[in-house]
Parts: sequence; structure tokens; C-alpha cells
Amino acid sequence: MTRHQGRHFLQIPGPSPVPDRVLRAMDMPVIDHRSAEFAELGKAVLEGSKTIFKTTSPVIIYPSSGTGAWEAAIVNTLSPGDKVLMVETGHFATLWRQMAARWGIEVDFVPGDWRRGVDTNVIEEKLTADKSHQLKAVMVVHNETSTGATSGIGEVRAAIDSAKHPALLMVDTISGLGSADFRFDEWGVDVAVSCSQKGFMLPPGLGFNAISDKARATAKTNKLPRSFWDWEEMLKPNANGFFPYTPATNLLYGLREAIAMLLEEGLDAVFARHQRLAAAARAAVNHWGLEVLCQEPKDFSPVLTAVLMPPGYDADAYRKLVLENYNMSLGSGLSKVAGKVFRIGHLGECNELTLVGALSGVEMGFVAAGVPHRAGGVDAAMKVLEEHPQGNAVSHLKVVKT
Ligand code: PLP
Repeated sequence: MTRHQGRHFLQIPGPSPVPDRVLRAMDMPVIDHRSAEFAELGKAVLEGSKTIFKTTSPVIIYPSSGTGAWEAAIVNTLSPGDKVLMVETGHFATLWRQMAARWGIEVDFVPGDWRRGVDTNVIEEKLTADKSHQLKAVMVVHNETSTGATSGIGEVRAAIDSAKHPALLMVDTISGLGSADFRFDEWGVDVAVSCSQKGFMLPPGLGFNAISDKARATAKTNKLPRSFWDWEEMLKPNANGFFPYTPATNLLYGLREAIAMLLEEGLDAVFARHQRLAAAARAAVNHWGLEVLCQEPKDFSPVLTAVLMPPGYDADAYRKLVLENYNMSLGSGLSKVAGKVFRIGHLGECNELTLVGALSGVEMGFVAAGVPHRAGGVDAAMKVLEEHPQGNAVSHLKVVKT
């Protein structure tokens, strides 16, 4: 193993780098999770999380990865034999579908080419055709982390409404929340699934479910068994800031700090920053003469950019070289696109210089690996950043030549 100096560049689309401020907030002695001191922390994070989901409905926090929170969404709302509508946006939509199938759910899985978000026309057609309301839920991935394509959740809601269909809207916003705009209440989402290691900028270990009144009412009669994931078991102690089992106390300290950071910057500013960085990353890719995997401009992800390697060049061998030479981790291609793409994460604790540094590593990696490309992608990215300065930048101040 090569020894490296300086900070590792963790440019995968989650886990994302943990800000020093969050690390310091977590560097605390573990406290009694049945104490009054804990209840204050519990209440703060349960309330604070609502602001990030943009909801007044309850948000449940599990000591789990995102996969656990996926399962919680299914077992609290569906019954064996239920039909649901899902869309093949990529690897994560495919995994969620597999999980639903294992629970005895019948999935109508709209095929996709992994190069765009959901086609809401298809959703509307399917729901309109379902006259007897057999479909119990529409389950979509907000930001498909395997491809770098986002889906318009507000548009999915509009399609459901236009078909006058009562299906629940369940959304995986695991890599969207806190980086891409997400509006639980406004978009009429019934269950939103997320986790800690993406836009929340925390280590892995927390899973989230935001739940609407309608989803909660469905949970009263659905037939799938659950214990650890049961919403009502959680909500009872949550009302006083407590949890039914030992919570991930120190991650909750981090969560409190991360929420404060997101709100201090302002969610709109956070989303704009992600958009700007993503636009710069795409400018670099275009300049290099390579292809962004997502082909639909309206679906370009603000969270990550997946890049297609030129034919004959292995993305994993390239990523290995970049890691060894420049101490930077890039995301791998998953399942269908393994070896064919690499992913540049630009989410969470990421700013202009982090991105420019990361893109420099990508470009130097191309040179070292002999990957054909047009030099100057980093300059192209810098140009985008210069032309679109961040809202609070002092871009109007000219340095006076003396
Ligand atoms: N859904 C999406 C969109 C993801 O990006 C991931 C993980 O990267 C998951 C689900 C699974 O989450 P976890 O790996 O935390 O279980």
C-alpha cells in the first residue's frame, strides 16, 4: 500500500466526507439514552430532521443503513400479494425492487436504460389503466446514485393526481436529501427513505423514514410482520425524545450539528451549490471528450456525475490508479455498468476547490493511465465556477493593482 500525505479525497457519492465540525460534535462521551439530557438531543434531531425533509409529519430515525430504512418503508405499508409500480432507473431501484419481491410484493417494474430519471408519462398511463386500484404504491428513487440521474418527484405526484389514483408515493431520497431539492409535504410524498452518509454529511449508521398521515393509517392495517422497524413502536417513545431501543447516540450528536450547518447555509443555497458544482463537473467531462452517463439534461444529478470510459478502457483499473497515485477514491460502476463508468461525487462537504482538486486528480489519472482525452477539462470547470459565482461570494470586489 502506498502511504499518502494530506487528506484523502473521498469523491464517491456517499459516504461523503464528514465535516470537522460534525466530527467534533460527535467526539463526546456516550450518555444514558434514558436520561433527560438525551431527551433534549432526541427532540432536537427528530424536529430538526423534519426541516430537512420539509415536512411537519413525523420523521423516524433508525440505527441502520439506508437498506434498513428501505425495508421499514415496505414492511410498514404493504401486504403480501400487493402490487406496486417501480421504475428501473438504475442499480438502486433494482435492489429496492428485489427487496419488495422478497417480501411477496408483485412489482410492475418499468424497464429503463439507466441513462435518465423516471418517465412520468408512463406512470400516469399505468395508473390510469389501473381502474380497480390494484397498485398500492408508486416507489421511485429520487437521485439514482448508480447513474447520476434525478427524477422529478413533484412531477410523479402530478402524474398520480392526474390519474386520480390513491397509490402511496414512496421515495428513496437516500442520496438526494440535503443535496437536491426535496419537499415531502409540498410534493405529497407518503414515505421518504434516507440515510446519514450522503447529504447529511455523517458517517453511515442512521436510516430515516418520513411518513405521511396516509402512510401511517395504512400501517394500521397492512399485513407484513415487523418488530424492529415498526413505526408505531418508534413513535410512542419519540414523542418524549426517546427511542424504543438503544439509539446511535453519537451519530445523533453529529446529526444535530449537520442539521445546524445545513440550515445556517440555507437549504436553497445548499442546493444551488450542488447544482453549480455539478455543472462544472459536466463541463470538464464534456471538454475531455467523454460522455456523462445521464443523457437527459433535466435529470442531471447535482450529487454526482457518472462518466463513461472510452471503449476498451477499464474504469476500475483507472480508479485504482487514481487512488494509488493521488489518494482519491472515485465511485465504481455498479452491476450493469461495472467497469464501464466511474462516478465523481460532489455532495455534502464539497466546495469549488474540493471539486477542482478532484477534477485535477481525474485528469492527471487520464494522463497516467493513457486514457484518450482532450486536456484542459479542469480549466473548463473553473470557467463555469467563475461565471457562476456562489451567492455569497465577494465576486464584485476587484483586487486593486498597486
Ligand atoms: N438507495 C440509494 C439511492 C443509494 O445510493 C444507496 C446506497 O448508496 C442505498 C439505497 C442503500 O443504502 P445503504 O448502502 O446505506 O444501505
